[in-house]
Amino acid sequence: MPNDETPGQFFGLDYPRKIPRALPPGKVLVHNGVTPARRQGERGFRFWIQDPHDGLETCECGWGPEAVGHYIPGGLKWNDIT
Ligand SMILES: [Zn+2]
Repeated sequence: MPNDETPGQFFGLDYPRKIPRALPPGKVLVHNGVTPARRQGERGFRFWIQDPHDGLETCECGWGPEAVGHYIPGGLKWNDIT
């Protein structure tokens, strides 16, 4: 059971300009439900770095660095986007 959640964690989102090849310890890479693109903001696609969260699900869409892996907010499915 997570016991270190604080309201502040939701205000620490970091939107890198480029897809990161490595992440700070304890952080995860997340993107929104828009069809993944290579660049931040392209066609509305956004990705960011944040603290791990129970609401995130592992995403296997193939975007991003394999070594890092990434997540998508729960309830969004990248392949549902048309
Ligand atoms: Zn993905």
